[in-house]
Amino acid sequence: MSNLEYMIGERGEDLSGPMELKQVFEKLDNRLAPDRHYRIKRKGGDWSFVRDGRETYSRVKEVLPKYPLGETLLIENVRSGKVLAIRVVVAASPAMPTTGTPAIDKIYGAVMSEFDDELGIINMGICADKPGEHHECNAWDIGVRKPNSSDDIHRGILKIANWLRDNTFSGEELPNEGIIVMSQWCERGSRSMSSWMTYHGTPHVSHVHVSGHPGRVSGWI
Ligand SMILES: [Zn+2]
Repeated sequence: MSNLEYMIGERGEDLSGPMELKQVFEKLDNRLAPDRHYRIKRKGGDWSFVRDGRETYSRVKEVLPKYPLGETLLIENVRSGKVLAIRVVVAASPAMPTTGTPAIDKIYGAVMSEFDDELGIINMGICADKPGEHHECNAWDIGVRKPNSSDDIHRGILKIANWLRDNTFSGEELPNEGIIVMSQWCERGSRSMSSWMTYHGTPHVSHVHVSGHPGRVSGWI
């Protein structure tokens, strides 16, 4: 789930589609002129000192692979003032014509129509060769591609998770069996999705995990 990709583009314009690190550096190699000068910063941070194109390229090569999901690196041409942005996003699974169980298909369609415009929904996995509901294609890991900071990603996935919870027994009446997001979880059943509980497993900071009702394995995760 930590498969990262990168989007690149001039600030103020649409960024490219997600690409691998190798392709980012190919693009940078073309964009950064050896005789021009640049400074870089992490979005929200301070500008670095000025370096020439070659030094900037080396520096970006050093720092970008360490950036976590949601971070954005800015590279400013100090003369023109143009800023190139590189954003770290999660890699979506390959297109997924085969979907999950009927429950997951229903949740998938509902989440897409509710949130894709706003958040850019990405499928981070349905069927997986590991224990639990993913093994039965009865769980879906929902990622987002539009938010451009880790805080915004967290806000986005919490919004989806709250919406799923609120639309289990009313509204869209989605067949959600259990939901995990960040460090909280809830499940259908005695507690009726009425409140979030503390999740003690690895925090889900990049995606919402939702499993379908009825569950197909013991436990619902
Ligand atoms: Zn999952």
